Amino acid sequence: MPLVNMRDMLYHAYENNYAVGAFDLVSLDFLEAVIDAAESCRSAVILSIAEPHFVHYDYELLLSAVEAAARRASVPVAIQLDHGSSLASAVKAIKLGCNGVMVDASNENFSDNIELTSAVTEMAHRCGVSVVGELGYVAGAEGEGAEQHPGEAAFTLPSEAKAYVERTGVDFLAVSIGTVQGRMNGRAKLDYVRLKQLNQAVNVPLVIHGGSGLNEDQFHKLTSNGVAKIDYFTALSDVAAKAMRKRSKESAKGSFTDLKKDVKEAIGEEVQRCLRQWGSAGRAAEVLERCELWLPVEHLIIHNVSAHSIESVDSLMAEGKRILSQIPGVREVFTGEAMKENSKYSFCWSVRFTHKVALENFREHEGFDAFLKNQLSANASDLICIDYQGKA
Ligand SMILES: [Zn+2]
Repeated sequence: MPLVNMRDMLYHAYENNYAVGAFDLVSLDFLEAVIDAAESCRSAVILSIAEPHFVHYDYELLLSAVEAAARRASVPVAIQLDHGSSLASAVKAIKLGCNGVMVDASNENFSDNIELTSAVTEMAHRCGVSVVGELGYVAGAEGEGAEQHPGEAAFTLPSEAKAYVERTGVDFLAVSIGTVQGRMNGRAKLDYVRLKQLNQAVNVPLVIHGGSGLNEDQFHKLTSNGVAKIDYFTALSDVAAKAMRKRSKESAKGSFTDLKKDVKEAIGEEVQRCLRQWGSAGRAAEVLERCELWLPVEHLIIHNVSAHSIESVDSLMAEGKRILSQIPGVREVFTGEAMKENSKYSFCWSVRFTHKVALENFREHEGFDAFLKNQLSANASDLICIDYQGKA
């Protein structure tokens, strides 16, 4: 199951001067096309879901499919929330399976950007999840989603970038050096001098948003100056739409499945072209060797209850479930009662975490600590707790 730690994945790219693609997915066609392309190129890949796109689909449902695809992949995969707008959306994305978070407060002023990004980073790191912050502003030009990034672009200042990375603790920095969100009008002019200065100033892998429309030489200059991740969507949306338009011209009465017949192939070709151009194709094996596998962790509690507590066991479990479910890094809480009477242990809790770091931190969580001491321990007998890590 090559779902891997995004931090390890991107450091391999950073140290070897290439970039991993993070492709925003808006439907199953995108998901299948992207993962198939990564498999056939033997490339690491980041499956990305962007908060501004959540109006187009139910992201809880899509994320289940994304996680299933990641777990059955043979190439290293990470799952990212792109353009997360708040602490709450980052917490939820991690609960739903993202193991990388991009927080986008780039339209805020410097200190507000630092405040939100720090809060997300602190929470995400307690879950073992790495974070991309963005400084400077990448504005939208035209094309799908461009209107969600209004206003003028603001290039990232190297002097601010250093302070920003130190104060927020982000693992990766998305920078603004001349790309645009959406479709480019003509050829973008990238500020490589600034990029070099940023790379020297911050010492963490850099990220580019708005990669659609750049040429091979431009990508090459990005990856040789610290860019280890490229977020890419508009060009995929454009080739998918073009494939559908072509079909609808050919068969005016075509069914839905007829019209979208060539969509997957069109997206797949574009993704393969990117993976080759950015230098990640053919490197899956060495990346895998370098990466921590992203294994779920489970905290199991089994117990009986003392005679005087038997009536309150339902409310005890409901209350515990409510408290545990709200802790960042907890993915699922199962509570159950033994199916056979006179079982050695009558009650069970299984709390599933996103990563072992989340489990380590959860014991210190005030809400859980209070619940364990005041309620569970007071009412339970023969209490056994065991931690398990999933097998690869
Ligand atoms: Zn973006």
